[in-house]
Amino acid sequence: MDMPKQITIIGVGLIGGSFALGLKKQGCPTRIVGTGRDAGSLEKALHLGVIDAAELDLQKAIKDADVVVLAMPVGATEQVLRQIQPFIRPGCIITDVGSSKGVVVQAAHAVFGEVPPCLVPGHPIAGTEKSGVEAAFAELFENRRVILTPAQNADPKAVETVSQLWQCTGAKVSITSVEHHDEVLAATSHLPHMLAFALVDTLATMDDKAEIFQFAAGGFRDFTRIASSDAQMWHDICVTNGDAILAMLDRFTADLGLLRQAIEDKNSDYILEVFRRAKKARDQFCGQ
Ligand code: NAP
Repeated sequence: MDMPKQITIIGVGLIGGSFALGLKKQGCPTRIVGTGRDAGSLEKALHLGVIDAAELDLQKAIKDADVVVLAMPVGATEQVLRQIQPFIRPGCIITDVGSSKGVVVQAAHAVFGEVPPCLVPGHPIAGTEKSGVEAAFAELFENRRVILTPAQNADPKAVETVSQLWQCTGAKVSITSVEHHDEVLAATSHLPHMLAFALVDTLATMDDKAEIFQFAAGGFRDFTRIASSDAQMWHDICVTNGDAILAMLDRFTADLGLLRQAIEDKNSDYILEVFRRAKKARDQFCGQ
């Protein structure tokens, strides 16, 4: 592949920064320009060697870009597409890293009147509960999956370029539809985050919370690590993938209700059946 000469990353945080570092680790000769809304965090990214140039002015940042990567919270997608639309040069590829994909398609329709062929939505299935460029690291995407959800009219060359850039960071690329992505991620990522946030909040608002957290052990830490994730980012995911998250929450609430009833009824058969099935499934899919 002809490597893009310049990639501009809008929002150089954990994901945008790790993408840049992953490419640099592989010796990718592309010039990486970072832009965003805050001069301080861009300076930090430059100082840490994550980007080659920091440019607060969006027009200047993208005017020579071959690829523009949207790596800010998904809730800002429409606003950012609107800001960059007048300055995108012909042939420039646009991609993103957002955790929900329907919102990107909606934003594209609102701004361009269609999903332009140069837009290749993407989502790396990798991350941590940390935020900001200080948390970025080159190996984040190694052997992890990245899902691309190109529209039918997508330019195959744009899809190929985005795919190869991710592969360069060590990721494995899959392609699926926007709808399938949002349903699957609601189940495997968004629902667990809702449960973790809700559980910690329930405990945090109890009168004896200081004592409760004192007695929290490994299981609590394992289960709730993701509740330390960025509130704004997860707010945006909740709001933009609401339908799929609600469907999963309803299903989970119904199952939890059955478990609750079994505990009340001292129905050991049901309780053991659920726990054994869950253990088998987790051991099988995540390793023991
Ligand atoms: P992050 O570390 O907080 O980085 C977000 C970056 O965007 C920051 O540099 C922030 O800079 C900038 N930013 C925020 N609002 C902006 C706006 N309106 N315009 C321009 N820049 C803005 O977050 P992240 O974890 O990298 O997440 C970024 C994206 O990746 C999100 O869409 C998220 O859904 C997706 N994602 C995250 C994970 C994960 O585990 N974290 C995994 C997969 C995908 P300032 O605040 O300094 O302005």
